[in-house]
Amino acid sequence: MARVVVCGAGIAGISTAFHLTRAGITDVVVADPRAPLTLTSDKSTECYRNWWPSEAMIRLMRRSIELLDGYARESGNAFGLNRKGYLYLTADETRLESMVAQARAASHAGAGPLRTHRGKAEAYVAAQGHAFEDSPDGADLFLDAASLRRHFPFLSDRVVGGLHARTAGWLSAQQLGMWLLEQASAAGATFVKAEVVAVEQDGERIKAVAFGDGSRITTAAFVNAAGPHLRRVGGMVGVDLPVESEVHAKAALRDHLGYFPREAPMVIWNDPQQLDWSREESQYLRDEGRADLLGILPPGCHGRPEGGQDSPWALGLWEYHTNVREPTWPIPTDPLYAEVVLRGLARIMPALAPYRDALPETAIDAGYYTKTRENRPLAGPVGPAGSYVCGALSGFGIMAACAVGELVAQGIAGGRLPDWAHWFEMSRYDDPDYVAGLAAITDSGQL
Ligand SMILES: Cc1cc2nc3c(=O)[nH]c(=O)nc-3n(C[C@H](O)[C@H](O)[C@H](O)COP(=O)(O)OP(=O)(O)OC[C@H]3O[C@@H](n4cnc5c(N)ncnc54)[C@H](O)[C@@H]3O)c2cc1C
Repeated sequence: MARVVVCGAGIAGISTAFHLTRAGITDVVVADPRAPLTLTSDKSTECYRNWWPSEAMIRLMRRSIELLDGYARESGNAFGLNRKGYLYLTADETRLESMVAQARAASHAGAGPLRTHRGKAEAYVAAQGHAFEDSPDGADLFLDAASLRRHFPFLSDRVVGGLHARTAGWLSAQQLGMWLLEQASAAGATFVKAEVVAVEQDGERIKAVAFGDGSRITTAAFVNAAGPHLRRVGGMVGVDLPVESEVHAKAALRDHLGYFPREAPMVIWNDPQQLDWSREESQYLRDEGRADLLGILPPGCHGRPEGGQDSPWALGLWEYHTNVREPTWPIPTDPLYAEVVLRGLARIMPALAPYRDALPETAIDAGYYTKTRENRPLAGPVGPAGSYVCGALSGFGIMAACAVGELVAQGIAGGRLPDWAHWFEMSRYDDPDYVAGLAAITDSGQL
């Protein structure tokens, strides 16, 4: 018997268990056939930001970052939280105008003050190394190349402007997850290595959870935190969760020549781009049936340094093709992924260009962004009494984990929910106005 059974020991399930223990519910079992944090939660770029296009996501992320800051203080920053920010860039004056309009809208929706800079940008306050305290909130908007390149000299001279979102940065997701799990375990939660195969009901209430090894736990509360298997586990409580899964890959690049600026924030190229393949390379790509890489590729190539000042590693990501599929493993990835990402990054940071001719050592991993149509998570009650969901964390599960775990735990514990909690509950789809508004969402904030 357990007060709550959580299905899944990814960052969502672990955060839910942790926040349950903080809410005074310590009789919690977290079940997963895999070792904790090993399916999607160890594949992320480990970045976070409060800079989102909707008030709903801004409020969720603000709460999550507030909790992250608190846990960083409490743990002696066991998970290496920094506040280096996200730097969105463009080489196109028209895009800069829309960047300015979007920045004003995000600021107005609660993402913090907007400071604009031109020329020397003397009022700009740089990030403080690996510290996260006392950083400016909101964003710095650079309206010309001179101001940007004064503070970020490693950028291409094609860049005409950019936005540095400041309540943002990265952390170690593994260390965060393990710290939350250790705290939850110390408070009484237990982890069992088992697959949930059925959820039993007594009329309209949760009664018990059955496992693949034939064992069973009686419980009145069940949390579906199954990540890419959210929909399948949702079926066990008779609910069809409106999610689908997209492949997302990440390249770790061994920058053995030290070309990737170690002081860089997360750098994001907001423009579509066409890569500069040589004539021979273009012919080779055509011969290999890869003419898709010769055309204009979408915006969103991004990357950041990984590790400390002496680390040779950098990360690069770019979903130049969307691949929605039923989650299966191993996840198919493009054999040319690292090379394409590196070439994309070299357009932003020209110092990387020599790697086009001699690709450095690279490692690719991939996971699924399991997401709703509008790219907002599902966190709250769903289906029979005592059943909850904590998932659809798409490409923001590390940054949102603390807030969504807290929402679900508060719901189970009968605590007072914040006034924005309904934006993340499944019941939002019962509102015809909400559903009608989904078609109008053109920017989901996804990277
Ligand atoms: C390439 C990439 C980059 C990313 N970058 C970022 C980033 O920079 N910042 C950010 O915030 N997020 C990022 N993300 C997203 C983030 O990694 C995910 O949103 C997050 O890890 C999802 O966590 P989860 O707990 O929902 O799922 P998972 O980590 O997949 O955990 C789900 C767990 O449920 C278990 N499970 C499934 N079915 C059952 C069952 N029947 N019984 C028991 N257990 C079950 C699975 O074994 C698994 O361990 C990125 C993701 C990818 C792929």
